[in-house]
Amino acid sequence: MRKTFLQEIRQRLEDELDQLVSKKSAQELRDADTDEIKKDPYACIPTTCNTDMNMALMERERKRIAEIGRALQKLDRGEFGACEECGERISPKRLEAILSALFCIGCQARLEKDAGRASALDEHVQIGE
Ligand SMILES: [Zn+2]
Repeated sequence: MRKTFLQEIRQRLEDELDQLVSKKSAQELRDADTDEIKKDPYACIPTTCNTDMNMALMERERKRIAEIGRALQKLDRGEFGACEECGERISPKRLEAILSALFCIGCQARLEKDAGRASALDEHVQIGE
């Protein structure tokens, strides 16, 4: 694989990570504010209505951050672009579309099918950990 391609991938992963992390700290600041408001029983707290949604969002972001960290680790070790299931090279096209792709297209499809059977949507994220 061309080095420039990997450098570009790394740059894009790092950019996304930066964005996620800065968004996360902003979210944490907002949560701190919410705690303050909760102490006042007469305060209007419209934000609590969205708590579940916020938590789901944060969970998704946390997973994404872990995914990107993993992809960056693989870049460091020179393992980036190899499928974690079968060891086959993941096509550069696929990597460009999904920067943190851990599996080749065949394994990903199979894993998603398995995850669907287990009726746990996030199951495939756990596989290979
Ligand atoms: Zn594979």
